[in-house]
Amino acid sequence: MRVTFIKPNIGRRDHSLYVDEARMEPLMLGVLAGLTPPDVEVVLHDDRMESIPYDNATDLVAITVETYTARRSYEIADEYRKRGVPVILGGMHVTLLPDESKAHADSIFIGDAETLWAQVVRDAQEGRLQERYDGPPGVAQIGGVLPRRELFKGKGYLPMALMQYSRGCRFACQFCAVSQYFDKKHYIRRIDEVLQEIESQRRKFIFFVDDNIASDRKALKELCRELIPMKVRWFSQASLDLTRDSEIMKLMADSGNVGNVTGFESITHASLKETKKSPNIGQFSSYEREIRILREYGMQTWAAFTLGYDHDTYESIIATMKFALKNRFTFAAFNILMPYPNTPLYHKLEQQGRLLYDGKWWLHPEYRFNQAAYQPELMSADELTDACHEARKQFNSASSLVYRFSDIKTNLKTLWSVAAYWRYTLLFRKEVYKKHLMRFGLR
Ligand code: SF4
Repeated sequence: MRVTFIKPNIGRRDHSLYVDEARMEPLMLGVLAGLTPPDVEVVLHDDRMESIPYDNATDLVAITVETYTARRSYEIADEYRKRGVPVILGGMHVTLLPDESKAHADSIFIGDAETLWAQVVRDAQEGRLQERYDGPPGVAQIGGVLPRRELFKGKGYLPMALMQYSRGCRFACQFCAVSQYFDKKHYIRRIDEVLQEIESQRRKFIFFVDDNIASDRKALKELCRELIPMKVRWFSQASLDLTRDSEIMKLMADSGNVGNVTGFESITHASLKETKKSPNIGQFSSYEREIRILREYGMQTWAAFTLGYDHDTYESIIATMKFALKNRFTFAAFNILMPYPNTPLYHKLEQQGRLLYDGKWWLHPEYRFNQAAYQPELMSADELTDACHEARKQFNSASSLVYRFSDIKTNLKTLWSVAAYWRYTLLFRKEVYKKHLMRFGLR
């Protein structure tokens, strides 16, 4: 039997196919392959840079679906099904919107795969694939399952190993699909299994793809203590409240943490309250204290902003960009607040009649990447789209790049941080422009 795993792309640009040059290993598909019974052959196709050989023989196709890739995922699923190949769809979007996904699949997988994936494969092998499988959200890779990393070879992924220590997050930010999916719970792997995974591969630079690795500080401290002797460099996604714990900051620095993606979301207290961004609200000090601490420990900051709250204006968005520039963040993403399906934000905007694109921007043929998908309070949707793009342009200008580089405590701290700054900021800056106003799907 052969199972084919597919990582879908987002879509295409008006003049050409879009190739994601900053692509990372599709960890979740490597893990699924690891959960597959060993007598079954597994194949991986990554739509982000290679064409999909629809006519190659396969007995089951498994596609991981995110909201941004839903349209393209359904196109791929339809192609396989036209050829009589059974398709199973899984991933966060499928769990949030099962009824939509099942129209394009023979089977859908709701929740996490760990407990049921081997059963899915056996059912497909015996020709009795069920219409729906429900796996509870929970701890990743239970029993020390390792991702099949050999599937990633030769596909040009960034030279870092993706791993997960935990899933979920205890906070309840209104726009966050993770909070919805995991119902505000945080699931942590056994540390010895994580350490074994690090040792099982050769890379010394690790991206822990945890939704919020700082959600449980005690667990993070334990991980850091174990990482110290392993002499790795790592980064992750972490909420800003970690700066309130000096022990954790020291342990992270000692264990090789080089920085984190951190959700600042907004520089306006009222907007943070609106979105219930509680890790940022306590002792709110315009982030001065938090940023000083991050710099003290030499951590490069990849700041994520969400823009378009009810208090936001063109001016407040440009002020956000200036704030990111002044603090010489290594990188900053100026994301439009997106109504992800089934989140509290989505329901609020739906009730207020403010959703655009029929409430399904991820499927709508007119929607383009980076466009506002709802009616903001103090400006038009187009003004919000333009303001965010202007912020991206100014932040990614040549003079901004040089100015941000000049931070001796972070971007100039070591030869490694200098190299990482130029390699990754230039790469992600390029992707920002390439993706802007991209169509979803290829058709
Ligand atoms: S802190 Fe981050 S992961 Fe946690 S709920 Fe908020 S946005 Fe989601």
